Amino acid sequence: MNKQEKEKYKKLLIKEKIRILEAIGALQKGNLESSQTGGRSPGVPNHLAELASDNFEKNLDLDLASSEGKLLAKINNALAKLDKNLFGVCEKCHKKIDQKRLRALAYAELCITCQKKKEET
Ligand SMILES: [Zn+2]
Repeated sequence: MNKQEKEKYKKLLIKEKIRILEAIGALQKGNLESSQTGGRSPGVPNHLAELASDNFEKNLDLDLASSEGKLLAKINNALAKLDKNLFGVCEKCHKKIDQKRLRALAYAELCITCQKKKEET
């Protein structure tokens, strides 16, 4: 996976993360925008960097057992894997996950074959 692709998935993941945080009320669009006007150059999404960091979530009282919490954990896991160059690799069989699948579900942990097996059992 090249750098451009990694960036693309990172953006996808962060977008998904924002969506969840907004859904659980941890994030309000207004807050996000005001925190962005920090005098830095426009076009640099500071809030995205902030959201991608662990600190943000430490301040959140998040129920990790909830479906949103689990999803967030998956997204964080995928972001961590991006940094370690392990992104897009099936956690079970260690084969590459199909790009089509990743585009639809960037935080997929299993390839389609393993996912199907898991669902069958
Ligand atoms: Zn697999």
